[in-house]
Amino acid sequence: MSWFRRVEKGIVTPTEQKKETPDGLWHKCTCCKTVISKAEHRQNLYTCPSCSFHDRVNSHEYFEILFDGNEFKEMDENMSSSDPLNFVDTKAYPDRIRETQRKTQLKDALRSAHGKINGLDLVVACMDFNFIGGSMGSVVGEKIARAIDYSRAHRIPFLMISKSGGARMMEAGFSLMQMAKTSAKLALLAEEKIPYISLLTDPTTGGVTASYAMLGDFNISEPGALIGFAGPRVIKETIGKDLPKGFQSAEFVLEHGFLDFIVHRKELKDRLTNLISMLAPAAGQEQNTPAAKAGLA
Ligand SMILES: [Zn+2]
Repeated sequence: MSWFRRVEKGIVTPTEQKKETPDGLWHKCTCCKTVISKAEHRQNLYTCPSCSFHDRVNSHEYFEILFDGNEFKEMDENMSSSDPLNFVDTKAYPDRIRETQRKTQLKDALRSAHGKINGLDLVVACMDFNFIGGSMGSVVGEKIARAIDYSRAHRIPFLMISKSGGARMMEAGFSLMQMAKTSAKLALLAEEKIPYISLLTDPTTGGVTASYAMLGDFNISEPGALIGFAGPRVIKETIGKDLPKGFQSAEFVLEHGFLDFIVHRKELKDRLTNLISMLAPAAGQEQNTPAAKAGLA
């Protein structure tokens, strides 16, 4: 029976002819390596059912998770960055922006929208890490400022979802100014007693941690998120000491008093609803605020 004998020797199958399960059906957890179907992973809101590892998701997914029926009105959706410094590194900044826009189908590293979560009005600004590392440039700052103005004008609570590597190098000082601008706007929001909840997701670092991400009436986070200002390597080299275990994880930051609580993504919507109804019994009722009078909307 020559069937079971290999007649030709040294058969090499080109990669494209190999018969394997097609990519994109299965998801392997980065942390515990459990394999589940992509559909199940999505149903689990991109978290692992066995170890609770939270995969990074972007504004598209957060809006879908939070807004009732995925219905929302996006604000300033066409705002895009200019190049005030004529900045060139490995490529010119405008080219980098155009290329990233094409790849990600985003205009910049943040999208803002208003809609309802469990029937309550909410303004949400959410960062997108896949747009130049979620870096905070003038567009990110301006969109946050305008989203806060909308919150003030309509007396709707504001939720910020941070996910960022920090300030955008290509805009240098213009990026750093966004820290002051957004902080000042948040101070106005606080003066008018409109709730601000800051959700820090993996990773929240640099100028974002040093400004709006830590200024919430409630600062909350997803499990395991990296939260810090400078990266661990820089700190280790500066202080010349080994860093404690779990340094800069959400759990470590919570234990040291910088967070109010950590929430699993599957409980996020309900916990936020509870918080908002507790903080703003009159949420959504437009009043005669200074911002409303000035016609900010
Ligand atoms: Zn896992």
